[in-house]
Amino acid sequence: MSDRKCEAELNDATTAVCPDCTTNLKKCLIQQNYAVVICPNLDCGYPFNQTQAINNIVYVKEKEIIEVAKSRLADK
Ligand SMILES: [Zn+2]
Repeated sequence: MSDRKCEAELNDATTAVCPDCTTNLKKCLIQQNYAVVICPNLDCGYPFNQTQAINNIVYVKEKEIIEVAKSRLADK
């Protein structure tokens, strides 16, 4: 199984699981202050198989964005 890549993954998305395949969901930053909850399992289409994928877009607090930025800097 391969993982769906997320450029800016938030660390707090480990509690929710995918309703389709029960993989731990990831929160992926798509825009400043907005993240989408996605299933990292490439064999699973969640949430892109949902008619209401907009429900998976969540507001992200400044603090979380700073954490992501910090961890990205630390990787390089
Ligand atoms: Zn899934």
